Amino acid sequence: VGCGICVKKCPFEAIDIVNLPEELEYPTHRYGPNTFALYGLPIPVEGKVTGILGPNGIGKSTSLQILSGQIRPNLGRFEETASWDEVFRRFTGTELFDYLRHISGKEIRVAVKPQYITQIPKAFSGTVRSLLTRTDERGVLDHLIEELTLSSILDREISNLSGGELQRVAIAACLAREADFYFLDEITPYLDIYQRMAAANLIREVATHRPVVIVEHDLAILDMLADTVHIGYGKPAVFGVITGPKGVRIGINEYLEGYLPEENVRFREYAVVFEKRAHSDDTTREPLFEFPEMTKGYDPFRLTVRGGEIRKGEVLGLVGPNGIGKSTFAKLLAGVEAPDGGPLEENIKISYKPQYVKATSGDTVEFTLRSITNRFDSSYYQHEVIEPLALRQILQSPLDTLSGGELQRVAIAACLSRDADLYILDEPSAHLDVEQRMNLVRVLKHHAEGKECGVLVIDHDIYLIDMISERIVVFDGEPGVAGEAKGPFSMREGMNLFLSNLGVTFRRDKSGRPRINKPESFLDREQRSKGEYYYAR
Ligand code: ADP
Ligand code: ADP
Ligand code: MG
Repeated sequence: VGCGICVKKCPFEAIDIVNLPEELEYPTHRYGPNTFALYGLPIPVEGKVTGILGPNGIGKSTSLQILSGQIRPNLGRFEETASWDEVFRRFTGTELFDYLRHISGKEIRVAVKPQYITQIPKAFSGTVRSLLTRTDERGVLDHLIEELTLSSILDREISNLSGGELQRVAIAACLAREADFYFLDEITPYLDIYQRMAAANLIREVATHRPVVIVEHDLAILDMLADTVHIGYGKPAVFGVITGPKGVRIGINEYLEGYLPEENVRFREYAVVFEKRAHSDDTTREPLFEFPEMTKGYDPFRLTVRGGEIRKGEVLGLVGPNGIGKSTFAKLLAGVEAPDGGPLEENIKISYKPQYVKATSGDTVEFTLRSITNRFDSSYYQHEVIEPLALRQILQSPLDTLSGGELQRVAIAACLSRDADLYILDEPSAHLDVEQRMNLVRVLKHHAEGKECGVLVIDHDIYLIDMISERIVVFDGEPGVAGEAKGPFSMREGMNLFLSNLGVTFRRDKSGRPRINKPESFLDREQRSKGEYYYAR
């Protein structure tokens, strides 16, 4: 299907072609008999940010747990613990030898930002201020608070924070520690692009004096943040191989290509490609719904919406900072909230996936989806929802046992299972890996086209927004005070407006992939003066 994403093959025909390389005889770690085995390990490096890039279930968190001393690698011999001496022997002559010696002697202090931040309120009660003060061993708290804009929430209870607030507090708490090594397992979920870049810049500051290792699925951010990346490949939940370090540009490009030349491994049968020029917006589409000019005032926030039209079969991207009124806009369209001066006349049927998804029961995934749709057994549903969202393996799992990424995919499926004219998904990429994000693009485009409905996607992953949207609505103003919804615009016009608000320009590398320019670099200044922030002319 010509959606411009896959060159060679439809990604829905998932590949199963990666075999364990023969030279990798022994795993670094195996959890138990017939369980996941990890091969290789990433290497923290002085003065650098080392990234780990790979699908979920490939051993990224396991690697971080080994490097941070939380798990002692057992060399695959789970029945008897391998001694440290055996571990050293295995890593003799490698760059990890010294590192593991220090870890074994507990001579290394590490600071860790865990992947799932929802655990934090269970482990800590008290205010943001009391948590951060306790962790401020470097005496840099004021700087962190300023850059991550935490000052207004310092006296709030940890248990009352939103996901985006908790994420920034967790990042600050990790970076405030005095440690020899810093490990951060995903920094972007629930953060807007301003906050993502602020966090990335703070991490780069730390890396000037201490090695940092990160896991991250927002590739534009990973690209500006990391110096080198290790790629994880294999069969999720079965085995994972962590490659040696690659330069960040090349590593990301190999990943998108689906082929690792050094390792001679193809792990995806199609390449992910970017369109260099802004895609034309399809004016042959028929109107679905015209939303009027409207305002909505809360105390003290006020949203102003310029009128616009949503078309049948299109995916609209919604971009802007957090707290600017994106969810409020969705609620006005859905009729959940009325604009000032009375409800919208022409209410359309909306299906809405909120930003924060919670497991509210122990029902299985299959039971949950069957209770929403009666087409569960149809081949359309299986092929367009269950398979691309990789739900088959977890159909019998109770909702309250799912990981963040699994729950997200179920919530997306639930949203698409409802009958509606307009589907709104608020940050569907949170906790999804790059493969799952690419599949999400396909699922939502097919859904819009196939059902002749509208799909609105609020997201902060700029690559995802670029790939998924036909047009975009840009929200700007002052978060928490006043927001204005402008558009829908064509991609070029919308991205230029959005990125000029942000003050960020992108260049293209040889492969056509957009990369964030260094502020005040030659290209940055040139593109800004021309008003071309994202697409080439
Ligand atoms: P990633 O971070 O790449 O998503 P993880 O390292 O979290 O991957 O997990 C890799 C595999 O190891 C998964 O299949 C996971 O279920 C399994 N696993 C993780 N922790 C444990 C554990 N403590 N016991 C058994 N299996 C585990
Ligand atoms: P976004 O989705 O862009 O992050 P929201 O639409 O959720 O932003 O919120 C915009 C602003 O409106 C925020 O400052 C929020 O606190 C405020 N707000 C949202 N809903 C309500 C409400 N029901 N009552 C009062 N203020 C609200
Ligand atoms: Mg993980």
